[in-house]
Amino acid sequence: MRKTIIAGNWKMYKTIAEGSELVNGLKRELIDLEAVDIVVCPPFTLLPLLSDMLTSSNISVGAQDCYWQEEGAFTGEVSCKMIKDSGAKYVIIGHSERRQFFGETNETVNKKIKAALKAGLLPIVCVGETLAEREKNKTFDVLSDHIKNGLADITAEEMEKITIAYEPVWAIGTGKTATPAQAQEAHKFIRDLLEKIFDKETAQETRIQYGGSVKPENTAELINQPDIDGALVGGASLKVDSFAAIVKKASEVTK
Ligand code: PEP
Repeated sequence: MRKTIIAGNWKMYKTIAEGSELVNGLKRELIDLEAVDIVVCPPFTLLPLLSDMLTSSNISVGAQDCYWQEEGAFTGEVSCKMIKDSGAKYVIIGHSERRQFFGETNETVNKKIKAALKAGLLPIVCVGETLAEREKNKTFDVLSDHIKNGLADITAEEMEKITIAYEPVWAIGTGKTATPAQAQEAHKFIRDLLEKIFDKETAQETRIQYGGSVKPENTAELINQPDIDGALVGGASLKVDSFAAIVKKASEVTK
């Protein structure tokens, strides 16, 4: 049984005051909700504070990126050890904005996953095709490339700690959501691929989130799909009302 996981990617939004206000609102709205794993991924500057504010709550904290070295002369980078030390539990790795703007490759994704696992963090690994790739019928090739190379040398045991986020790049921040059928097709492809790389049990137990313009109105129909185990939410995670509504909708889905 895969527990639904809803994570909010705050991207480069929220000061300390704004982030605290958002988290206080989420705590109020979601206090008793245990059916879904809830994660907020603020900028690095907010990790220790929000981790403290959310201690012993049903909401976990995650970082949006990490570096694979433990420490050293790497100006501007933050190591997995430091993220773990901040109180965070999860880390997003390989988000398409990192791939597009900051030179993230499957090779760096792979190094980051290994470093995150070593530090005791739970990676949320993003994969997904661009619009041009989808239009050229390359979606499955891209997903295979991201999964096979991003997860190179990862063991089945390590895979238990990893969540995959399928995020079609054309649906991120555009208001265009993949249809439930399009998303399900990609998720099923990913799960079948995980079975080939690892084994049936590992594939069945891996949580695969959908990301790309998720909002309260489309949450239920997406999560209702057999291979969609949650959502990675960008824009709609920045407001208490919309993120809390997404989590509540997700918690009502029984399948
Ligand atoms: C994201 O940033 O991972 C994302 C899915 O963004 P949005 O929900 O805004 O499309």
